[in-house]
Amino acid sequence: MSNSVLKEYRDKRNFRKTSEPTAGERQAGNEPIFVIQKHDARTLHYDFRLEVDSVLKSWAVPKGPSTDPRVRRLAVAVEDHPMDYADFEGAIPDGEYGAGAVLVWDTGTYRNLRAEEDEAASMVEALKDGRVAVWLEGVKLRGGYALIRTGKGDDNRWLLIKMKDEEADARRNPVSTQPNSVLTGHSLEEIAQQ
Ligand code: MN
Repeated sequence: MSNSVLKEYRDKRNFRKTSEPTAGERQAGNEPIFVIQKHDARTLHYDFRLEVDSVLKSWAVPKGPSTDPRVRRLAVAVEDHPMDYADFEGAIPDGEYGAGAVLVWDTGTYRNLRAEEDEAASMVEALKDGRVAVWLEGVKLRGGYALIRTGKGDDNRWLLIKMKDEEADARRNPVSTQPNSVLTGHSLEEIAQQ
């Protein structure tokens, strides 16, 4: 991994103080992963991350993902994160960037649905277009999700929307009914106290 790709990530953090990872590679040949981290920073949010070219493309979603296709959730694009971030849980110390507890709310593999269309867009092309469509195979979330860029220029706003498919369910609300870590079962409070 070249240093320049993750420069913004590294510039924001003091790795002598935070236990967040600095880097990480993954084995080739595996399906790409997604992870959603619940992060109790200044304001609680969910960090939605997709593996693309050995980094985690990332969006901060204040209200978290919905399973209801009628709901549009604001997703603010943030800096790429290193692959090792995908299983990071812990408390970022006070005074550091993003101070507060982090847990892995959901994770699994994903498929690029736009690669399956006639135009066959790669994830890099889909990101450039501002029109991403992925099929998630997670524990809490499954099925198609679209990320649509609405902001122009330096405006980093996107929308995260559940696509209409057999996994859509307007009655589920996993953000409130399944609040804890999918890796450890821990709550944000438990992680903050560790
Ligand atoms: Mn965050």
